Amino acid sequence: MSKFKKIVSLGLAMMLGVSLLAGCSGASGKSGEVSTVQAGKLVMATNAAFPPYEYVEGGNYEGIDVEIAGKIAEKMGLELVIEDVDFDSIIAGVQSGKYDMGMAGMTVTDERKQSVNFSETYATGIQAVIVAEDSSITSVDDLSSDTKIGVQQGTTGDIYASDDYGESAVTRFKTGTDAVQALSTGKIDCVIIDNEPAKAYIAANEGLKALETTYVEEEYAICTAKDNEGLLNGINDALKELKSDGTIDAIVEKYINSEG
Ligand code: GLN
Repeated sequence: MSKFKKIVSLGLAMMLGVSLLAGCSGASGKSGEVSTVQAGKLVMATNAAFPPYEYVEGGNYEGIDVEIAGKIAEKMGLELVIEDVDFDSIIAGVQSGKYDMGMAGMTVTDERKQSVNFSETYATGIQAVIVAEDSSITSVDDLSSDTKIGVQQGTTGDIYASDDYGESAVTRFKTGTDAVQALSTGKIDCVIIDNEPAKAYIAANEGLKALETTYVEEEYAICTAKDNEGLLNGINDALKELKSDGTIDAIVEKYINSEG
């Protein structure tokens, strides 16, 4: 055996050893060993102020993402644990191994893909613009660097608005609810945020409406740590089954279509 070959086979043996070790504390998923932060659990980081995807009602977590995550955990034989954190801390927490996955109506972007892996997408999002009913802003074309635009910090709405109209036009809030509050009290001119939460905020606050023109269309997916391919595969397998047996459609319909 040549020196090179020996080194290569030693390297392979070491990699195998490491992957076997890594699999030890994991639960057994469909696609082989799946390792998670806490054995037997699937820890999901979310920001539960984003209806109808995730919100708190009567002390419980509810919403499309919460239900889909529950089904994924069930299929993987894991117990779902939800951690409610700031939206802009989810990716760092997944990256550092604090949480197994981030699921928060999270849009797949090339920049985020440099830090985390994304599952297959399970929903489509649209960035909408909320204004006061009597606003002089009647279309996206009326937005400019002079518009006071409110966004939820670290979201795609924040990224696009900052790119398109400049940092000084943008005011960042911790949650969409805070941004909408500022709009209701006339502190800002509009809020750029995902369409479904926008509808929920409009329904809950008088005097607001969404512009008919949409700002950007995007796709939602679950993010996982780059070094945990096993978990990503397990999640994708579960998502595939939940899509093909109609479970995801039924969950989405329960929260979206029935609202009218
Ligand atoms: N879809 C948006 C994003 O990924 C907003 C998500 C959220 O606020 N939970 O940035």
